[in-house]
Amino acid sequence: MTDDIRYLKGVGPRKGELLNRLGIYCLDDLFYYFPLRYEDRTNFKLIKDLKEGEIVCVQTRIAARKLRRILYRKSIYEVALEDESGIVRAVWFNQPYLNDYLEVGDQVIVYGKVSLYKGKLQLNAPQYEKVDEDDSDTLHVGRIAPIYRSTQGLHQKFLRRIIYQSLSGAQKLNEPLPFHIRKEKDFPNIRQSLLHIHFPQTFEEAERARERFIFEELFISQVLVYLRKAKHRTQQGIAFSVSDEFIVKLKKRISFTLTASQEKVLGEIFSDMGKTYPMHRLLQGDVGCGKTVVALFSLAVCAESGYQAAFMAPTEVLARQHHVVLVDMFKGLGFKIDLLVGSLTQEEKAKVQSKLKKGKIDIVVGTHALLQKEVQFKKLGLAVIDEQHKFGVAQRALLPQKGDNPDCLVMSATPIPRSLALSLYGDLDLSVINELPPGRKYPQTLVVGEGKRRWLYNFLSEKLAEGRQVYFVYPVIEENLESDLRSAEEMYERLKKRFSEVGVGIFHSRIPQKEKEDVVKKFRSNKVHILVCTTVIEVGLNIENATVMVVEHPERFGLSQLHQLRGRIRRSTHKPHFVLVGGKSMSGEAKKRLEIISKVSDGFRISEEDLKLRGPGDFFGHFQHGFPSLKIVNPIEDLKMLKEARVVAYGIVKSDPQLAKAAHRSIREYIDSTYQVQLTHEDSQRGSA
Ligand code: ADP
Ligand code: MG
Repeated sequence: MTDDIRYLKGVGPRKGELLNRLGIYCLDDLFYYFPLRYEDRTNFKLIKDLKEGEIVCVQTRIAARKLRRILYRKSIYEVALEDESGIVRAVWFNQPYLNDYLEVGDQVIVYGKVSLYKGKLQLNAPQYEKVDEDDSDTLHVGRIAPIYRSTQGLHQKFLRRIIYQSLSGAQKLNEPLPFHIRKEKDFPNIRQSLLHIHFPQTFEEAERARERFIFEELFISQVLVYLRKAKHRTQQGIAFSVSDEFIVKLKKRISFTLTASQEKVLGEIFSDMGKTYPMHRLLQGDVGCGKTVVALFSLAVCAESGYQAAFMAPTEVLARQHHVVLVDMFKGLGFKIDLLVGSLTQEEKAKVQSKLKKGKIDIVVGTHALLQKEVQFKKLGLAVIDEQHKFGVAQRALLPQKGDNPDCLVMSATPIPRSLALSLYGDLDLSVINELPPGRKYPQTLVVGEGKRRWLYNFLSEKLAEGRQVYFVYPVIEENLESDLRSAEEMYERLKKRFSEVGVGIFHSRIPQKEKEDVVKKFRSNKVHILVCTTVIEVGLNIENATVMVVEHPERFGLSQLHQLRGRIRRSTHKPHFVLVGGKSMSGEAKKRLEIISKVSDGFRISEEDLKLRGPGDFFGHFQHGFPSLKIVNPIEDLKMLKEARVVAYGIVKSDPQLAKAAHRSIREYIDSTYQVQLTHEDSQRGSA
């Protein structure tokens, strides 16, 4: 069903464009444009029965109206609404165009919350819908009416009408769920289900249909996950030989013993690397759990086998840090190691690029600079991507594409619950480090008010005198007129004066690269003792002696972000202190975040809470998983269904990896028409591109 929406009866180019704006391009988009909510228009509330605080749906007539302009661009539009039982006032702010749309005598259905204003009941900016005289159409009133997310110029009635017409007129609908699954789950067929979700007879019917579509969405996403995975297995990769002797040699080069988790994860990675098909593995672990050393061991194994390895990080500071550690750890092993980052001169870059191409570099560490098309490898064997959520899906895919099915390891410090990770990143195998190196102290997290600043500074002086180092984190770089937020620049000047006995440095994204490196170097070597910064330090920075962090305006930061920041100071055996200086006016949600961060220390639980607070859209926002985005599913709430869908999908793909059986044809057709996933052709296409 890919018919262009513009050719639908009653649509045309102008309305078509508005529909496009809602993400509706073809009939299928229209069918899957589900209502936001429903209004029970089978029996309306009478005006005389309205009570404060209730959300109501009333069928009224406009008895009087008035537009009042208050100030430039500000206005109040008020109307008196009547039905046979009484009159109630409704007001809309700053929508003067309503004056042209709603006229005395118009029949309107309004929906909204009843509030009390100067002792009288009124409706504040209710949703409204005009009922025409000739609207005998039972789509809009006398029923449970669907309400859609809309845009100016597209009325609810228009949406309802075209959805209804095209749904009832459609010859054949794509049915993604095979009959036996529908039977087992007791779901009606696609046409019924669509009718039920758009035009339900009862609320239960709508709910049941919604369940089906949640299942359907999860099911399809899981089928895709398994198909991809099955495809990976058939690819020809590199089978590295991993020798125990070499591992022992590597272990001698680190000053600590690997944790049991690190050992386990390395085992999983080496086992993958030894297989003939390419590794696609996600390594999850809380910030500070020691993912880097795991990456380094893998890079070494690759290089030892005579292949090139690439290690990519999202910031230059982090890449440089990795580079230093790597060079130090692999000294004397004979590996040729180099760095490729944006701030190198053209000449330097060209040199590294040429060496990479000729195979004269064994291990390269870098940033996005590695993704440029000038970067080519002689034989890339392993790509490791650190802090993968800082890269887009497409970006992540670019690095391994520079080789011929190399192994690929992506690492994430924003761990999500296992079942969720398996589903969202299901085409990746999952390794988890679930412990911190021994001796790590749980940071004391304090939320203090502005009144405690003097106490705080004294406390910091004490810690500095003990030899510790301190981070100050700010939400903005510079002062700005519109907000009274403290900024890094401003506080840098003030803190320099207050703590004149120690070295104070500043670090943020607008500082020239050379100075950045310089200040980090000084902080690392304990010549700068206080680092004033923004959240650029959130990823990866590892400075063990810095065990105190002050975050100002913590209400400005998300939960996961605060946790990442806190992770910076949990890197040694000194007791860490994490101090949040709260602003005066904080929203309920901000307070909730601070409460969680001060009580919960486990990264997995933090992500879970964060997911709940923000919802999946926001949480996954910039680190999408590369699958058709989940439109109606909330992965946390629908976890049970997700597991079911996963099991069913697994069974199907396992028994029929090409989806060739008659019973699975509907899935195949649906996937082909909707996602154009051409499993068998994808590779050859990529090869020729
Ligand atoms: P992350 O997982 O956040 O990337 P890192 O790899 O940067 O964490 O490790 C944090 C610190 O812990 C580093 O200083 C590292 O050397 C140290 N570390 C890693 N593994 C161990 C271990 N098993 N025992 C002691 N320290 C360790
Ligand atoms: Mg790291």
